Amino acid sequence: ALTAHDPNCLFCKITAGQIPSRKVYEDDTLFAFHDIRPAAPVHFLIVPKQHIPSMAQVRPSEEALLGKMMALAPQLALEQGCNPYPEGGFRIVVNTGTEGGQEVHHLHLHVMGGPRPWKHG
Ligand code: 5GP
Ligand code: ZN
Repeated sequence: ALTAHDPNCLFCKITAGQIPSRKVYEDDTLFAFHDIRPAAPVHFLIVPKQHIPSMAQVRPSEEALLGKMMALAPQLALEQGCNPYPEGGFRIVVNTGTEGGQEVHHLHLHVMGGPRPWKHG
């Protein structure tokens, strides 16, 4: 696939296998891996392989890709130990821009959940 790669981007290096990660999922367009500093018992990130800097740069042609990321979250959450809906569950967070708390400028969904208790950020 034609995936724009930013050689200076941490998550581009992770999806390319140039920096190791604990992989949760991979297909032709998406990659998921455990967050290195988990904020919940289950905390992984879903990223496009294509370098999209943030939600603020998403284009109409990428709507299907975003939908795929969102639809993947519940499937992986169950596989990673989140309990089923409705008693179980998870949160999806997309920090966007510096004032939105974004530190890595490659679009990513945080998926956080797992058995309580854990502190909601
Ligand atoms: P942001 O603040 O940009 O929404 O979140 C970036 C996330 O990436 C943080 O939760 C941080 O712990 C995680 N992170 C940063 N560097 C690495 C890394 O090298 N490997 C992994 N697996 N996660 C990372
Ligand atoms: Zn990138």
